[in-house]
Amino acid sequence: MTRKKRKIIITVDGYSSCGKSTFAKAIARELGYIYIDSGAMYRAVTLFALRRGLAGNGIADEAGILNALPEITITFRPDSETGFSATYLNGEKVEREIRDREVSDNVSPVSTIAGVRARLVELQRSLGAGGGVVMDGRDIGTVVFPAARLKIFMTARPEVRAQRRYLELVSKGLPADFDAVMKNISERDRIDSSREVSPLRQADDAVVLDNSDMTPEEQMVWFRELYKKRINES
Ligand code: C5P
Repeated sequence: MTRKKRKIIITVDGYSSCGKSTFAKAIARELGYIYIDSGAMYRAVTLFALRRGLAGNGIADEAGILNALPEITITFRPDSETGFSATYLNGEKVEREIRDREVSDNVSPVSTIAGVRARLVELQRSLGAGGGVVMDGRDIGTVVFPAARLKIFMTARPEVRAQRRYLELVSKGLPADFDAVMKNISERDRIDSSREVSPLRQADDAVVLDNSDMTPEEQMVWFRELYKKRINES
């Protein structure tokens, strides 16, 4: 008897710039799942805060941001150019703006605010409720979907991550400075791992993928093996 394949939730958490989104997108494409970028939501709130003068120089005005939260609406719409969803902030497409260096430099302090997290976790849960999703972030397997069927925790050596991020910026024609990239990555990891609410940590039942010395194709071979095992277990 053939059983209809159940659509599960797959979580991909880990350190900054270790290729989570590239990997998560590849998985989603292969399985016909929806890819959800939770970091884009924190970045969109940060962009809003920067524009309002509620964040800057690595400092976030907690009271001001909480006060403004009801004015922030984040949505996702399919983007025919990329084949994935693009992020919209109050109806404005901000997919490019949220990757700016200023946003990267201020997103971790904004992400430590409990009220911001509560709002975004609610949105993440509603988007993933039906299953058939791959969501990447920092607390997806620990807080957002603790009962997810398959959890992956990604890591790579810091210098490898900085080099990849640097090359990505160069290839996009964006301003790139290797030392600044390295500093941003280690500072984000430090804040993300040490914050009180939902710190970045490996879920007890997550499988670790250190992709420092792996090509994207090797990562997919690793994933297919893992997925096959998990699906057969259920
Ligand atoms: O994934 P990405 O690097 O775009 O995330 C940007 C930042 O958003 C992270 O450094 C972290 O501060 C925050 N974030 C988070 N929880 C998530 C996803 C991202 O705190 N689930």
